[in-house]
Parts: sequence; C-alpha cells; structure tokens
Amino acid sequence: MPSKEQQNGVDITNPYEIAKRLIERATESLHLPKGVYEILKKPTRVMKVSIPIRKDNGEYVSYTGIRSQHIDILGPTKGGVRFHQNVNEDEVIALSMWMSLKSALIGLPFGGGKGGIIVDPHELSNRELEELSRGYIRELEPIIGPAKDVPAPDVNTNQQIMGWMLDEFDRLSGRSVPGFITGKPIVIGGSAGRIEATGRGVVISIIEAAKRLNLKLDNLTAVIQGFGNVGSITAKLLHQHGVKVIAITDAKGGAYSPNGLDVMNLIDYVNENGTVKGFKDSINITNKELFSLDCDILVPAALENQITSKTAPTIKAKIVAEAANGPTTPEGNHVMEEKGIFVIPDILCNAGGVTVSYFEWVQNSMNYFWKEDEINEKLQEKLVHAFESVYMMKEEKRVSMRESAYLVGVGRLAEAMKARGWIK
Ligand code: GLU
Repeated sequence: MPSKEQQNGVDITNPYEIAKRLIERATESLHLPKGVYEILKKPTRVMKVSIPIRKDNGEYVSYTGIRSQHIDILGPTKGGVRFHQNVNEDEVIALSMWMSLKSALIGLPFGGGKGGIIVDPHELSNRELEELSRGYIRELEPIIGPAKDVPAPDVNTNQQIMGWMLDEFDRLSGRSVPGFITGKPIVIGGSAGRIEATGRGVVISIIEAAKRLNLKLDNLTAVIQGFGNVGSITAKLLHQHGVKVIAITDAKGGAYSPNGLDVMNLIDYVNENGTVKGFKDSINITNKELFSLDCDILVPAALENQITSKTAPTIKAKIVAEAANGPTTPEGNHVMEEKGIFVIPDILCNAGGVTVSYFEWVQNSMNYFWKEDEINEKLQEKLVHAFESVYMMKEEKRVSMRESAYLVGVGRLAEAMKARGWIK
C-alpha cells in the first residue's frame, strides 16, 4: 500500500522532491516567470568521484564522493561536506538547494553547494580519514576554490578535516588559499566563533520566536534530538539563557530528566562516553518518546525526515526550531501547521553556520581577523534581520514561517536572475 507520504507515485520524503516542491510553490505565489523555477529546479553541476584509499590493514577501498553546485547567481557556491553512510545524490542536491536559499535569505554573496562522502567515518582510523579527506579535495580540485565553490563542515566533519582539506588544496594550488574552505582551525585562518555559530544562530532564532509568542525564556523547557556540534551548543546556550533542557537523544540513546539536565556536565560525559545515554539521574528515552514529551521547544538537530506524519501528531511543543537541514516531511509540516506550532524553518534557523563561514571568508580575503564578540554581534544582527523579514512576509501574506522564508529566498534569487539578464 502506498504510504501516506507518497503523492502521484512520487516519494515525498525524498529531500530533492521536497526542496523542488517548496521552491515551485514559492515561484507560483510570487507570480514569477516560469523560467525562475526552470533554473532553480536542477543543480548547475553535480560531480561524482571515486576516492580509493589504502586502509591500515593494507587493503584498498574505494569510496564515493559527491559535490552538488546548485546555482552561483549570488556568488561562489558554498556549503558543507558530510561524511555519512546514507549520503546519496538526491540528498546532496537538495542540501545544495537549501544552501542557495539560506544564503539568499540572509543576504550573503553565495550560491548553494553541498558535498558528501558515502562512508561511516566512525569505522575509519584517523589516518584513513585524512587520506579520504585529502582524496576528496584532489578529485574535486577543478571545480572548487574561493571564487568558485567553498566547502565547510557538516554532519560528521570538523575543524581537523577542514585543516587537512585546506592543506591538500594549498599543495595542489602551489600557494596559500585560506578562503578556499571555512570552518578550519583558527591557527590556519579559521574564524573565532565558527564552531559555535550554528547553535548560536538556532538560539537567536528561538529567542526571536519566543518574543513574538510573548514567552519568557526562563519559564521554558526544551528537548533536543541530536548532540553533535549543533545540538550540544544549542543545549549549552539555551541552558545559559535559563531554558530548562529536559531531554536529549543521540544515535545511541537518550537522556531525560523532567527537572532539567545538567548540560555542562553532560557535555563532559558525552566526550568520555560517546553518548548521552546513561547520564546521571536521567532516564533513557527513544527519539519517538522525545518528540512526544511535554515541553515548549523542540529542536531537531540530527538528519532529514524526522518530523513525519507519524511523529508530528504527538508533538506538544509550541516552538519547533529546525536546527537540522530538512528535518520535516511535507506531511509532518502539514500536521504542525494544523496544530498551530510556531516552526522556525531550517533555512532560517540553522543559517548561523554559513553566516559565520561568510565572515571567515571575508576575513581571509583581507587577512585581518575580528574578535569573537564582534563576530557574534555581526551574526546576531544578520539573523535578527532575516528573522524579521521572514516574520513580516508571513504576516503580510498570511502564510507559514516556512513558506515565508521560501518567498524571501526565492524572491532574492529571482531578483538576481533579472539583474544578470537570465530572465526578462
Ligand atoms: N553545513 C552548514 C550548513 O548546512 C554550514 C555550511 C557553510 O558554512 O558553508 O548550513
């Protein structure tokens, strides 16, 4: 039997289909020329590469890497690289489309890109991981660079991996090109505040949402799915703002404490144990249970397709802050809209990462670096401004926050197309 999440034979949990539908809807509501959707519906370039590496046991294994460059109309394409066993072409394309919209929405001079390698990095040694990261850059070298396509961290990639990638690119180029990649260690040109940027942006948008709903932060409770870079920083900053974080899940289990988790100690615990499961005074819970908990704020900070026709009806939160990219299926979204949940859509909610990546790229081009306070201030200003534009458009057009974010983003892309003469 076709699942509820199939429509006309199309799998609408496929992120590429989801991204296309949302963009098409926005072009229709804005009465844009048909050409706009024709241009946006496909990525400009997708490159698939094989990366053979020699494993520590002497065997050779070839991994598949992908890079999608959606559109470079606002500037060089920009977006992270994820290492995950479930990476696939449609997912990477969708993620690159979301990057285009994210940059357009915030007003950054970037187009959308995204990359991935089909690999479970936890199964590789550090040396194997380095060989794989360098190999990826070697194969993609013809199409990447500071004025072409600028990579960054994403799921399961970090500062160290960006450092290896930069080193490989510098060697291939025969010169230093720090603006080729963002999210790199500070000592080789990274930016202060980049590690915390995505989580900080999530919290800035939660604060803005709470203001609009007349909610006081220190009366609120939050639950978070995912405790990687974004989930853990979001938890820490929410905790510092007086929000009681009562539950967190990760790939291995969960921790729930109705009186609030001791987030600072939990971060140390996860560094030692690799999971939140088993943390003192907490009850182990599943993702499904997490979504249905009594709370004010739900933060999906893991992978795509988590809020679905099955999980959405159980949500009790007033605010859903999409820290992950594409965490909600169309059906899940529909249910949340019916329930009147205030959703901060992914392309707005998690845009803090690429915003500070932009600051890193700017600092690299002038070789002068700002202090962390300055970065955080600039980040706050950009995100609050973007939140306001989306909120105003939502009120004006009487649409959801998600639709409104797409209207703002697609509207800017269409304006750039007109300015370049791509559409008349
Ligand atoms: N991977 C992050 C994202 O999805 C950051 C991208 C970047 O900094 O370029 O937004």
